[in-house]
Order: sequence, then structure tokens, then C-alpha cells
Amino acid sequence: MIVRLILFLLIFFIGWTIYRQVSQYLSKQKTRNAKNSQSKPGEKMTPCAHCGTYVPESESIKDTQGNRFCSQGHLKQFQKG
Ligand SMILES: [Zn+2]
Repeated sequence: MIVRLILFLLIFFIGWTIYRQVSQYLSKQKTRNAKNSQSKPGEKMTPCAHCGTYVPESESIKDTQGNRFCSQGHLKQFQKG
């Protein structure tokens, strides 16, 4: 009888250990995914005033009137008319 009891406890202990490791692994993955989505907020896209192509705000070129362009060439073309 005692052997059965020990065996039962052993199985219970192993099952509990596996369950804990799996739940820890899953919670780690969840936090990792959350961090990834937070670290990449998606930069604001802005359309070129000349051709309408959307470019990230940090890569766009801004003129004195606040218009944004995809390239220096389009800035010049826009200013020419
Ligand atoms: Zn453009």
C-alpha cells in the first residue's frame, strides 16, 4: 500500500513540476510578445506632398511651410510648381 502511495505522490510531483514549467514558459512568451509589440509602436507615416507616397516621418523631408516629401527631388519639384 505504501509503495502505491509513494508512486502516486511521485506522479503527482512530476506532473506538478511539468505543469509549472509549462506555465512559466507560456507566461514568459506572453511577456516577450507584449514587449515586442511595445518596442515597435509603428512609426507615423506621412504622404509626400508631390507624389503621395507614404514615408516614415523621420525619413521625410520637411519644407518651411510644413509640407513633407519623400525625397529632396520632390521637394524641389514641388517648389518649382
Ligand atoms: Zn514624392
